[in-house]
Amino acid sequence: MQQAFDREGIESFKRELSITAVADRLGLCPVHGKIRCLHPMRHSHGDRTPSVSLSESKGLFRCWVCADVRGDVIELVSQVNNLSFRDALGWLKDMFPHAVLQASISNPSTTTAPKNPAPNRPIEKRVEPLLIPEPELPIVVPSAREEHWREKTILGFLKMLAPLEHPDSHGRFEARDYLVRRKIFLKTWNAMRLRWVDDYGRVNDALRRDFDGDLLREVGITNEHGNLRFYKHKLIIPYLDDKNRPLHFQARATEQDTTPKELSLRGHIPCPYNVKMLDQRSGLVYLCEGPIDTLTLIDRGIPAVGVPGVSHLKAEWIPLFQNKSVIVCFDNDEAGRTASAKVVDAFMSQGIDAKPLTILPDGTDINDWFTQNK
Ligand SMILES: [Zn+2]
Repeated sequence: MQQAFDREGIESFKRELSITAVADRLGLCPVHGKIRCLHPMRHSHGDRTPSVSLSESKGLFRCWVCADVRGDVIELVSQVNNLSFRDALGWLKDMFPHAVLQASISNPSTTTAPKNPAPNRPIEKRVEPLLIPEPELPIVVPSAREEHWREKTILGFLKMLAPLEHPDSHGRFEARDYLVRRKIFLKTWNAMRLRWVDDYGRVNDALRRDFDGDLLREVGITNEHGNLRFYKHKLIIPYLDDKNRPLHFQARATEQDTTPKELSLRGHIPCPYNVKMLDQRSGLVYLCEGPIDTLTLIDRGIPAVGVPGVSHLKAEWIPLFQNKSVIVCFDNDEAGRTASAKVVDAFMSQGIDAKPLTILPDGTDINDWFTQNK
């Protein structure tokens, strides 16, 4: 049964959808934010070089030739499948149930489900949020060219960093020591290409010399003053794709009481951590909260994938888990348990087997389990 959305509900629902994922589901084969026009005959060479741009940040599509080929995700479905607005909306709800769920959470007025009574006992809530929100970038359409420069900038930055077994000028190994305390060792540092900011001044100067300041700021490597953001967050954890290309990274604080514990880049996070584990072959995969828990399992040879933060499983990532049995091992705290239940539902609703890990003692995470249990 579908739940009716009011106007605000439709807007929340649209915000939960990735237009690229929708285009993919429609069979339009998006590549680098582009699809072929729905009216190829109006284009030279049948639009062999795609003319329709998809804007992930705005949720819009637009053909550069045809004035009538433009609009939002609902319009896209409507034009491709030749459906009315209402039927196109219904199609999207069927195809992206996770987005319906998320929209209902962010806009509870649209849901008819009874609300859970608030628990009475005091909850020790972790300082949450790991990710800076995606800002509205002044880019109308992120083009393949912009994507290309983003990737080049990330790669260039990572190349400036030191391997973890190189000391800083005082002979310290802060990132290495942090990981060793977490029982994550050399083989994993190398396999996952972990690096560290061993010399803030050197890296900052090199960035200013070699890169465009606006680009660095847009990607989220520097702050509004043009300085490297990772002063305390020295451990840099790249998100590699199946060809070991770093598409994204998170920076982890190496000292205990720094908050937030992790910093992320600005803009779109393209994939979960260790996405190459999602190879469409059948098998078990553990879904962790954050890269440190994921690395903990990887270090022990356990197949693991991570979401950047507890509430950051994107709807468009769910199909990547096709054919896997997913064990969700988020932290055993209130936030983790709530998110875990939602994530299990989201997988199950798309026919992917999923269940929560139930062995963790109250208030602990995967890394605690491996560092504190014998
Ligand atoms: Zn066109």
